[in-house]
Amino acid sequence: MDNFDVAIIGGGINGSSTALNLAKNGLKVCVIDKGSICRGASGVNAGTLTMHMTRAKLIPYAKKGWELWMNTEKWLSTEIDVKQKKGLCLAFTEEEEKLLNERSKIRKEYGADIKIISKTEALKIDPSINSKIKCAAYCEMDGHVSANQTGYVFSKALRANNVAIIENFEVSEVSNKNDIYEIISNKGKKINASKIVVAAGVHLGKILKLLNININIKCFPQQLIVTERMPELMKTVVTVANGKLSLKQFESGTVLIGGGWPGIGNIENDYTETKPENLIGNMRLACHAIPDLKNSRVSRVWLGLEAETDDAMPVIGELPNLKNAYVIGSIHSGYTSGPYLGLLLSEKILGKETDLSLFDIKRLIN
Ligand SMILES: Cc1cc2nc3c(=O)[nH]c(=O)nc-3n(C[C@H](O)[C@H](O)[C@H](O)COP(=O)(O)OP(=O)(O)OC[C@H]3O[C@@H](n4cnc5c(N)ncnc54)[C@H](O)[C@@H]3O)c2cc1C
Repeated sequence: MDNFDVAIIGGGINGSSTALNLAKNGLKVCVIDKGSICRGASGVNAGTLTMHMTRAKLIPYAKKGWELWMNTEKWLSTEIDVKQKKGLCLAFTEEEEKLLNERSKIRKEYGADIKIISKTEALKIDPSINSKIKCAAYCEMDGHVSANQTGYVFSKALRANNVAIIENFEVSEVSNKNDIYEIISNKGKKINASKIVVAAGVHLGKILKLLNININIKCFPQQLIVTERMPELMKTVVTVANGKLSLKQFESGTVLIGGGWPGIGNIENDYTETKPENLIGNMRLACHAIPDLKNSRVSRVWLGLEAETDDAMPVIGELPNLKNAYVIGSIHSGYTSGPYLGLLLSEKILGKETDLSLFDIKRLIN
């Protein structure tokens, strides 16, 4: 039976980033996934790296994550498409203008370099936006990553750093004997490790339950829409004041439209199904923000399951009443911050001074 220093349960952006940094520091690490790595939320998300949609308290972490994404050649690979773009968050009504001012102010207080600009200034930055806006919030720290490439690049980087990638291993039991964790799959396969990290995304609650820790993890089935390829249409990453829209155009010409318009789904069998009325609502709002989008056709829609705790803040750090057991997950805009938060958790595991008190799981335990 294999013996690892650290076994990571869940190979999404959080688990994989943690694993990569631990391995770079000389530990023998494995990443266990019930499917393939980075094929859950981390492989199907919209890849937007925006401060406009990030919860204010998480801005300092999102900024660090953004910087890591913009410098992947230093820690991951140049094979993943990352693009820095300017970000505009639009307000169409007086109510939205007020909301935008309030939300931008608090994000600024947490370190986001956001400023409110006039309609004229916004149209100069991106002439494709609807000229009926009242104003916009502007941030240079924005952009996107092609999230569907995450699995490929992380697999390569993890293997290059001698991390064992154990796929199609659905963890169904975890026990501890003499300070060694035994991780057992639903098919009876076993892995031993001195330390474990629970990074199971939307299934976090299920794995924590195996360790007698009960927290509520909500599951949001999120829909995304991608258009056919079009000539260059928009120059920025566009969001709206109420947070119900995010869209950007990739180099290929396709426009990816999201914003949290829910579909149908559950974690029992990772089931997802589209909700057509919400796809239409999302598309209408996108066409309102960028009127020329009306000339485009939808080429594909898909869904992913997003995890959220009861206070919508992440859980990262040590698990209480257990030795050498850690958790990471439920991070709002988690793809943006994931690489940095994985780095922080790996530093904690390596015994470095790391303040993760904001994310302490104890606040949520039932
Ligand atoms: C549609 C959508 C759009 C999004 N858009 C954005 C965006 O634009 N920008 C942004 O910053 N964030 C975005 N997010 C959020 C972001 O994708 C997530 O916060 C992040 O990817 C979560 O990473 P994770 O590693 O915690 O979870 P995941 O990527 O879900 O990884 C968890 C892994 O655990 C594995 N697992 C679960 N149970 C078990 C088990 N029993 N045994 C073994 N393995 C198990 C799963 O197979 C999975 O691979 C979006 C999310 C969705 C769903």
